[in-house]
This record gives sequence, structure tokens and C-alpha cells, in this order.
Amino acid sequence: MAEIILQSRITCPICGHEKTETMPGDACQYFYECEACHELLKPKAGDCCVFCSFGTVPCPPIQKDGQCCGSD
Ligand SMILES: [Zn+2]
Repeated sequence: MAEIILQSRITCPICGHEKTETMPGDACQYFYECEACHELLKPKAGDCCVFCSFGTVPCPPIQKDGQCCGSD
């Protein structure tokens, strides 16, 4: 069984600030506010969540099923 990684290092595309965040295990996070510049980040087109767009690790549903949100 694959291990689900819940920690993702997210990099703000605006100011470059990096922070390790813990992701919710069964959902994705659409908005993320950068603690440095307070920009509200949104996923890039085609991505389901901010971790898939800006994090080092994609969100847990992606790790588990290779897909997320959309189908619900
Ligand atoms: Zn920022």
C-alpha cells in the first residue's frame, strides 16, 4: 500500500516564500494565503488544488487515485 504524504512544501509564485504545510488527508485545498505577502493563491488551470500547482507533493487524493475533486 502506498504511503500518503501529508506534508507538502508550498512555494509562493508571487514572492517565492516557502512553507511546509500539512494537507487535509481526504480533500484538496483550493485557496492558500501566503503568509509572507498575503496573496491568495489559486491552483493553475487544470490543477485541482494549490498543492498540485505550487507544492512539492500533490494532494492526497491525487496520490491515492491519481485524480481528485472533479468526479464528485
Ligand atoms: Zn507570497
